[in-house]
Amino acid sequence: MTFVPIQIHDYVKKHLKRNPGTRAAELTEQLLSALDDYKAGHRCSNCGAPIWVIGASQVGRMCFTCITGEADPSSDYEIAEACDKLKAPLSRKAR
Ligand SMILES: [Zn+2]
Repeated sequence: MTFVPIQIHDYVKKHLKRNPGTRAAELTEQLLSALDDYKAGHRCSNCGAPIWVIGASQVGRMCFTCITGEADPSSDYEIAEACDKLKAPLSRKAR
């Protein structure tokens, strides 16, 4: 799994260019909230894999594969802090 790392504010800028109707503050909030979930060790509600912060910010706590149906995120963005899925935190509850 290799994502293209991106900072939240850079991603928000890109997203806004493609989706002019989006409000930056709202998107930033959604991303921060999903990143918090990731850091707290929440996993995909479907399969238990680490969540994809960018996707999860829009559709809920799920991993890249469950959101997109693709196995390999070769050219998809992920928030830099959450890129290394092998080191993803795991909440004590999930163990
Ligand atoms: Zn999943």
